[in-house]
Amino acid sequence: MEFEPVIGLEIHTQLATQSKIFCSCSTRFGAPPNTNVCPVCMGLPGVLPVLNQKVVEFAIKLGLATHCEIRLDSQFARKNYFYPDLPKAYQISQFDRPICENGWLDILVEGQTKRIGITRIHMEEDAGKLLHEDGEWSYVDLNRAGVPLLEIVSEPDIRTPQEAKAYMEKMHALVTSLGVSEGDMEKGHMRCDANVSIRPVGQEKFGTRAEIKNINSFRFVQQAIIYEIERQRDDILDGHTIVQETRLWDADKKKTYSMRSKEEAHDYRYFPDPDLPVVHFTREWVEQIRSELPELPEAKLQRFIQAYGLSAYDAEVLVNDRAVADYFEAVANLGADPKLVCNWITSELMRVMNERKVAITDTGITPDLLAELVRLLQEKTISGKIAKTVFEEMLKSGKQPSKIIAEQGLSQISDESAVLNMVREIVEANPDQVQQYREGKTKVFGFFVGQIMRASKGKANPEVVNQLLKQMLDL
Ligand code: ADP
Ligand code: MG
Ligand code: ZN
Repeated sequence: MEFEPVIGLEIHTQLATQSKIFCSCSTRFGAPPNTNVCPVCMGLPGVLPVLNQKVVEFAIKLGLATHCEIRLDSQFARKNYFYPDLPKAYQISQFDRPICENGWLDILVEGQTKRIGITRIHMEEDAGKLLHEDGEWSYVDLNRAGVPLLEIVSEPDIRTPQEAKAYMEKMHALVTSLGVSEGDMEKGHMRCDANVSIRPVGQEKFGTRAEIKNINSFRFVQQAIIYEIERQRDDILDGHTIVQETRLWDADKKKTYSMRSKEEAHDYRYFPDPDLPVVHFTREWVEQIRSELPELPEAKLQRFIQAYGLSAYDAEVLVNDRAVADYFEAVANLGADPKLVCNWITSELMRVMNERKVAITDTGITPDLLAELVRLLQEKTISGKIAKTVFEEMLKSGKQPSKIIAEQGLSQISDESAVLNMVREIVEANPDQVQQYREGKTKVFGFFVGQIMRASKGKANPEVVNQLLKQMLDL
């Protein structure tokens, strides 16, 4: 039997506000435990929450960017449950009147655009953090309690693990380019719950879903869903029925495992929070925010394709990280060939970013340096191979490429008479191979090129070598 997966994601993104959602405590990451706290976010009795206006503005921004309807009278609700990291025993969230509804986001997968519906986006507060540092004790850190989040709930429109990854990446690109979130995955600024079910191909009714909680990377969302689809398929083929449950992803074992079943699921007893008034704002404010939106990734993608002649794939890779897109434009605007610049970013620079886990602005290679390197390559002062050497040296020393080339004598040798001497030497030193070549074994041509390049330490201009070598061998 053939099965089709059905997937819906709930993404939580932490907002880039200075202060928390209902008090003026700092949201700064990495402060000593329980130093960014006050009676409001510690849940002490007798205090009242006051809504941070910036959170509403960020929610509207994201709502507009995802084509949502914006509710002018949205409401906060209490989601009741007990946990040691939640001192009030309820989370302030939104329930039946969320601020944004009925939007969509387009994703690009294998060259195809696909539209994923967005059911709702709502504002809520984060909980604290539990630290299980030794065997005996657990500690509660409330610095994160009250940090603002947006929860973005998708329609069950996603059909493959790859689409889920693309959707999460696209959402990340969107919130970071809007400035709504810093999007630092290492700090947990974007987490998602993946709802996964499968159904026989052709069946309209959805299967029973499992919800995989708290996935914190693009790679893990894809891996967890791949695993989960397999698990459900095996279970069904073994004659079991899928139970609705919450599962967790174990990144080391690459497996999901059950956390609680539906029977144990919480009944959150949502009700409107009596401490917070309905969130009223005007249509004019919404329109003002719309008029101030920056260029969105979608528009940037089209512009990169048209203005710089990039492929949709290349443009997408650049646009997915706002800092990378800005960097690319800075280098291209310094007169370097856009396609070459894109190649250097997506291969060399992104490798360095991954290895060192740094942003493109922190690799030490400034736009000026890369632009100069690419120009030297374009002007054929250096070959592609030498350019890589120069790049590595730039990473180490931060020196200008022209300086490195001068210091190490790396300029490409294009002067015909100089190259001709090298070619002649190698040809004369290898009479057997010359014989073979002239008898029709033209494959040995590559042998000669290799020898000449080696003799010149990679500096001979390959085009000139090819041309002169061919002339000499074809005599
Ligand atoms: P809950 O509040 O229990 O998490 P929701 O109805 O809000 O439930 O749905 C949460 C997510 O689950 C949404 O993203 C939705 O698209 C997705 N979803 C709902 N039903 C299914 C299903 N049968 N298979 C996969 N995903 C589903
Ligand atoms: Mg859910
Ligand atoms: Zn506080």
